[in-house]
Amino acid sequence: MAWKVMMPKKIMFGENAAKEFPYPKNSLVITTTTPDIYNKWLNYMGIKNYEVYDKVTPDPAIETVEAIQKQIEGKNIEAYIGLGGGSSMDVCKYLSKLTGVPKILIPTTFGTGAEMTTYAVISFDHKKKLLQDEAFLADAAIVDPYFLPGTPFNIMRNSACDAAAQASEGYDSKAGNPFTRFLCKEAFDILYDAIMNDKHSMLPYGAMLSGIGFGNSSTTLGHALSYVFSNEGVPHGYALSSCTTVAHKFNESIYHKRFKEIAQKLKFEQLKLKKPLDQAADDIMPDRGHLDNNPIAVSKQDVIKCLDEIVNSNPLA
Ligand SMILES: [Zn+2]
Repeated sequence: MAWKVMMPKKIMFGENAAKEFPYPKNSLVITTTTPDIYNKWLNYMGIKNYEVYDKVTPDPAIETVEAIQKQIEGKNIEAYIGLGGGSSMDVCKYLSKLTGVPKILIPTTFGTGAEMTTYAVISFDHKKKLLQDEAFLADAAIVDPYFLPGTPFNIMRNSACDAAAQASEGYDSKAGNPFTRFLCKEAFDILYDAIMNDKHSMLPYGAMLSGIGFGNSSTTLGHALSYVFSNEGVPHGYALSSCTTVAHKFNESIYHKRFKEIAQKLKFEQLKLKKPLDQAADDIMPDRGHLDNNPIAVSKQDVIKCLDEIVNSNPLA
């Protein structure tokens, strides 16, 4: 049996990582925030000779990628720097694949582990598409807890919950291997300690390990269940608090108890669903990418039972 694990060519992490990184000249910084925030970040990073594109919005579309291509036409850009949340990094990944220009990914909210993975989410014709390509892998990823303070509690807890869900579902995934399980286990232990004992500066490192671990295996039933709630506007990490708890119970995961403790500690509340459970289950069943990698087989009846437990009992009580 042979296994494959991919990660960015270069990873710098820990305090001052973004400050000490030797940035190439003539970079294009791609970000989502406003100048008052990113100018502070760029100052800290000490980066010189750069240009900024700051019009990336959440759920970025292919039109954004094309707009950037236009802006930099004929310029000699040596690297793209994706600085911000997932959407800056997704745009950066796609643009780099199109143009062959190297990319440096720097998350400022931690949880998705997107800086470590071969995945990108881009919308085409207003439809979100999850894409995977080896070309999306960062040439360098920089994980620096400097960006953490100032993150609102709500965003922090959603990210932390996502990272813990990804690590524990990734551990249980049938697509995993000894190395991804090693990474996911370590990631979960670090995230659990960081959340339960309020050591938030350890969240970025935990999320980073989770990203490499689940990014080379997959998430499973918890994530599959969560999308019907996301479609009704519940943030991803929030939806996972109940969905992954119930999925771990269904799977008899070794992480069931500790994941529930995390969700309780982060004070998540019970989820609601407008859609009838039977219809929601019909939406979930075709998600083979998640369900086929679940450690045990899942029937439509199982999905309905899980959804019922999520919305009609309080799984976090
Ligand atoms: Zn996730």
